[in-house]
Amino acid sequence: MRKLTKPTEIARETLKELTQQRLEPSPDHYAEVYHTIAGTPEEQRLPPVVLQIEQALGALPRQSPELKRTLDQLRKAARSGDWPAIPALIIKYIELQGGQAGLTQSWADLVRNLIKQWDLRNPAYSHSKKSETLERVLIHFGNDPEQLNDKLSGLIRSWGETSTESTVAEETGTTASQTAAGSGISFTSTQPLPAYSPASADSSWQQGLAQAMTLGLAPRLRHYPELADEASQIGSEALAATLDADVQKFNARLRKFWLKLELLNDQEQRLCDGLLNLLRLLTDNMSELVVEDDMLHGQIAVVQHIMSQPLDMRLIYDAEAGLKEVIYKQSMLKRSLLEAQDALKSMIASFIDRLGSLSDSTDQYQGRIAGYAEQLQQANDLGDIRHVMASLLQDTRSMQLDVQRNRDEMREARAKVDQAQEKIAQLENELREISEKIRVDQLTGALNRRGMEEAYDTETARALRSGKPLSLALLDIDNFKQLNDSRGHAAGDAALTHLVAVIKDLLRPTDVVARYGGEEFVLLLPETRIEEAVPTLQRLQRELTRRFFMHNNEKVLITFSAGVTEVEMGEHRAHVLERADAAMYRAKKGGKNLVVVAEPSDNAGPA
Ligand code: GH3
Ligand code: MG
Ligand code: MG
Repeated sequence: MRKLTKPTEIARETLKELTQQRLEPSPDHYAEVYHTIAGTPEEQRLPPVVLQIEQALGALPRQSPELKRTLDQLRKAARSGDWPAIPALIIKYIELQGGQAGLTQSWADLVRNLIKQWDLRNPAYSHSKKSETLERVLIHFGNDPEQLNDKLSGLIRSWGETSTESTVAEETGTTASQTAAGSGISFTSTQPLPAYSPASADSSWQQGLAQAMTLGLAPRLRHYPELADEASQIGSEALAATLDADVQKFNARLRKFWLKLELLNDQEQRLCDGLLNLLRLLTDNMSELVVEDDMLHGQIAVVQHIMSQPLDMRLIYDAEAGLKEVIYKQSMLKRSLLEAQDALKSMIASFIDRLGSLSDSTDQYQGRIAGYAEQLQQANDLGDIRHVMASLLQDTRSMQLDVQRNRDEMREARAKVDQAQEKIAQLENELREISEKIRVDQLTGALNRRGMEEAYDTETARALRSGKPLSLALLDIDNFKQLNDSRGHAAGDAALTHLVAVIKDLLRPTDVVARYGGEEFVLLLPETRIEEAVPTLQRLQRELTRRFFMHNNEKVLITFSAGVTEVEMGEHRAHVLERADAAMYRAKKGGKNLVVVAEPSDNAGPA
């Protein structure tokens, strides 16, 4: 059909259409059919009053999702002509806006927290870094109050994450930083405590607070029984506070409690710093002590490097393992040196003996010669003189023999000393070689990390040559800390040894087992596809439920979580381990005692 453009033609057509469709000729029907025939765009069909209402609605603030939703409902009601719904929606919007007065309050808290975190010292966030991040947030989100509020809260949270409290929180201020110690954890919240207002007095905040205190905080304060008791007590008081006056008193008590926690956290932080410094001092001094020993220097440098990084549990165990190795080598070196030193000492003692007897006999001869000189003076006849001469000759000859013998013995002693020195040098060399060959974990007999690295190189080269697959698994014992805590460190050590024994029994002789960290192990399974590696590990899990670890005549079940992956040809070790580690992490998240196959996305960093 030809598109009509003249209004008169459209009007005629509209009337025709109304009769054809048997529609009542009301203004609404007329307008609707008219616009359809004229092809008026949707926006222009709205009555002017609706357009103006929309414009007004567009200018109203919408700082929360709730407000935005109400404005959308208003717009819809206006468009569809649902006028009776509009008054209720307007009232709802106004009420919500009233509630949003809380937002102004939250801005005040936000600024207060921002200033507080700005002033606190944080090694991870220098002032210039803080200023830089703040500037960036202001530039990007300055025009959007809702986003700005959100981003600033995030910023304050991240500044607070590792800050040390160098100032004491104000007695009167809203609690901004709530610190809990015991596990050494500091959690800083930018949210103010729920303000008590009788109008909103339902008991949900009380229950929430009571739970947080008794279930959340108290167990984490188990090293500080008094504070743990206080936390539980405050939890019960929160439930009991009903009157406004009770709540005022309760708030004051709570603030005092936070203050104690902050001080405690400060102490723990200092304790931790102190211990680290002590450890640094110790390793620094160790390297002074073994000044001539290159091999120990290298070892200590490794430990020092580990300690210079931000600490996590695995690094601490690496440092511990490194130190243990240093101590072990040092004790070996010391033993050999002591032996060599003893030999040297006895050489020198006999040398001095010889020297003594030499001078003794010279003294003796000197006395005799003096005697002969006297006899010579008093000699009256040739017979006397001949006698003196004969004795003198005899003595001279034995003196010559004595001297020669002593000289020979001294030469011999010196040769022995030289030999001993050579022996020391040789021992030191051997020691250096041996220590370089330490590839085995002293506790479990599995390969250590260095051994694993070498085995990885060997096995990947072999796989490359033979074109056969190679799988790698990373195992981490489940809840091992708990086992250590409840049964002692020695039991933990024995459990590690037990696990390695079971693994070695069950796997093929060509498989490699290495201790990767504290309670983490790496298995290298040559000629094994991932489809075969998974059942192998599951078999290992089943075997552990049969061969219990025995402690004090009790059966202790050891379980592990594992990430398994197949090594790609020519793939770097770190890359494979990263993937296996991510899969292992998912096994932990999935409930532990699981074997999880790595996915390519596991190399993309934490999900
Ligand atoms: P998860 O199930 O999440 O792995 O928990 P977990 O307790 O096993 O892991 P976490 O990393 O929290 O603790 C590991 C513990 O391993 C901490 C440490 O006490 C213990 N550990 C590490 N190396 C050794 C060791 O050589 N001997 C002993 N006895 N314990 C060790
Ligand atoms: Mg672990
Ligand atoms: Mg573990």
